[in-house]
Amino acid sequence: MPIYEYRCNGCGRRVTLFWRSFSEIGEATPRCSFCGGEDLTRLVSRVAVVRSEESRLEALADPSSLAGLDENDPKSLARWMRRMSQELGEDLGPEFDEVVDRLEAGQSPEEIEEAMPDLGGELAPEGEF
Ligand SMILES: [Zn+2]
Repeated sequence: MPIYEYRCNGCGRRVTLFWRSFSEIGEATPRCSFCGGEDLTRLVSRVAVVRSEESRLEALADPSSLAGLDENDPKSLARWMRRMSQELGEDLGPEFDEVVDRLEAGQSPEEIEEAMPDLGGELAPEGEF
C-alpha cells in the first residue's frame, strides 16, 4: 500500500495520497485534496509502504508527515488511514476497508497480510519510482 506525498502547484499545500497498489498510481491522476488541482509534484519517492516481505510500515521520508501515527499501534494506523481516506474523499475499495477494519480490531499488519494474501502482490522492486 504505497503512500506518496505531493506538493500542489495550485495552492502550494502538501498533499498525502494513499494508493491501493503501485499499478494504480500509473493509471490514476493524483488530485489535490484541498483545491482539487491536478498539477501535483511528487515530493519523495515513497513515504510509507506496508511491505509484504517485512510486514511493517516503513517511514522513508519526512517523519513529520506521519505525525500522530504510531506505527506500532494498529488502531493508530487505522485512524490515520481512515483520515487519509476521508481527505481523499474517494472510495478506496473493499480491500482498504477490510485492512482498516482489521487494524481497528487490533490486528497487526502481519496478521492482516496472512489473512489477506493478495495484498502487496503488486509491490515494485526496491528503488523504483
Ligand atoms: Zn491544491
